[in-house]
Amino acid sequence: MTSLNFSCVLRNFCHALSLSIASMSFYQQFVKHFLHPLDLYRSRGYAQIGYLREFEKSQFYAQEQLKEIAWDRLVRILEHAYQKIPYYRSSMDQAGVHPGDIKSESDLLAIPLLEKTAVQKNLDSLVNPDFPKHLMSINQTGGSTGTPVKFYVDKDCYCSRSAATVRHDRWAGYDIGFPKGVVWAREFPAPTSLKSQVRSFFFPRSLFYNTGTISDDSVFRYNEQLKRFRPPVIVAYASAMGLLASVLKKHGVKAYQPKGIITSSETLEPENRLLIEEVFGCKVFNRLGCSEFSVIASECERHDGLHIMQEGLYIEIVKQGKHAAPGELGELVITDLRNVAMPLIRYRIKDTATWMTGTCSCGRGLARITNIAGRVAGFLVAADGSLCSGIVFATTVIAHRPSLKQVQILQTERGRITFKIACGSEENLTEEDRNYLREHTSLNLGKEMAIDYEFVDHIPHEPSGKYLLSKSTITGGFI
Ligand SMILES: [Zn+2]
Repeated sequence: MTSLNFSCVLRNFCHALSLSIASMSFYQQFVKHFLHPLDLYRSRGYAQIGYLREFEKSQFYAQEQLKEIAWDRLVRILEHAYQKIPYYRSSMDQAGVHPGDIKSESDLLAIPLLEKTAVQKNLDSLVNPDFPKHLMSINQTGGSTGTPVKFYVDKDCYCSRSAATVRHDRWAGYDIGFPKGVVWAREFPAPTSLKSQVRSFFFPRSLFYNTGTISDDSVFRYNEQLKRFRPPVIVAYASAMGLLASVLKKHGVKAYQPKGIITSSETLEPENRLLIEEVFGCKVFNRLGCSEFSVIASECERHDGLHIMQEGLYIEIVKQGKHAAPGELGELVITDLRNVAMPLIRYRIKDTATWMTGTCSCGRGLARITNIAGRVAGFLVAADGSLCSGIVFATTVIAHRPSLKQVQILQTERGRITFKIACGSEENLTEEDRNYLREHTSLNLGKEMAIDYEFVDHIPHEPSGKYLLSKSTITGGFI
């Protein structure tokens, strides 16, 4: 027996044991109050504990107080950016604006918007040259908006984001120490290093379902695994969770019933919400998040709009060059208030939303947004007839080929797909890009899949404001 298998056996035993002890409460409390803080201390991420304590309290501050806190942080980060980050000094000087000029929200409109393409091109000059390199880590977007971006996050900001995620997960019924179900578009390999095996032995695992290849049998298997694993919360791509619900319903299979399902990274269509809630017997907690900012906004237990992560982000909604009034649909423009290593200022995430007025009946003062329109990634039909989430292409194809700029994957007939690429013309598609697309199409959709190309200068958002990443007309009803 290999050490990996032995580790799996031990881990399963430990998990089964933990389930039998007071319905997880004993082991969960042990992880939450001892192992988790110890792990954070070891990895120098202990600041997360303080942030979580702070955010649990501040979420109930009055709206005006939260606005004032965010504004004070915004003024400080703008000054910091101007003083320390070459890109912002140059862009603000060119626009004739100085952080000292910013006295009210309307003054912010003078500061240039930051495009994803500008981050792609100016990564080095967007980083604080004085910030210690060992206290920041590089990250990159999954490409699910069609434009891959690399960026740096400093350690302290990472801790605050982790705390924010825990706070928002708690609204759906999750807490530190519980396992999670995760329906996501990537493979999660088993831990191989001794360190990661030891870690996964003690910490509750996540039970993954890879939406790269969806078949009825794999959905049945995952449903049975969930029943044994019993995670209180499942985090999922909205469309993939809708598909799982639809498969179980079609075959009359009783679905696992978690406390809540958090859907993220894609637009949650109303019919998908209804279907998921009916089949899985729990509420869906819609969330807006992205790699650049982590959690941006989430639904609370009242499901009346999404509360923004106001302690870490300054959010504007802009319509035709002006700030949108409550109820008006506009584009989300976000400034990171805590990432001093590489602050993203007035960054266009290319999603749209509207402000809500009044306070939520949950008592939280965090401002709320609604009518979120983001990315839509429809399923594609693989050569063998199985369904593949378009998000898979975003994460495995687009994210690794920035030269392609923007990509849409379209399918109108079985065994054939079209890559619509915003690189202008065929000459701009390198042989390396072409080989990469061919290789990953084979991996995800099968070797027999034929590929066509269409070249354009730009791929616009849909009239609804959504960005269509992939679409197939032959999925038999699934978008
Ligand atoms: Zn609320």
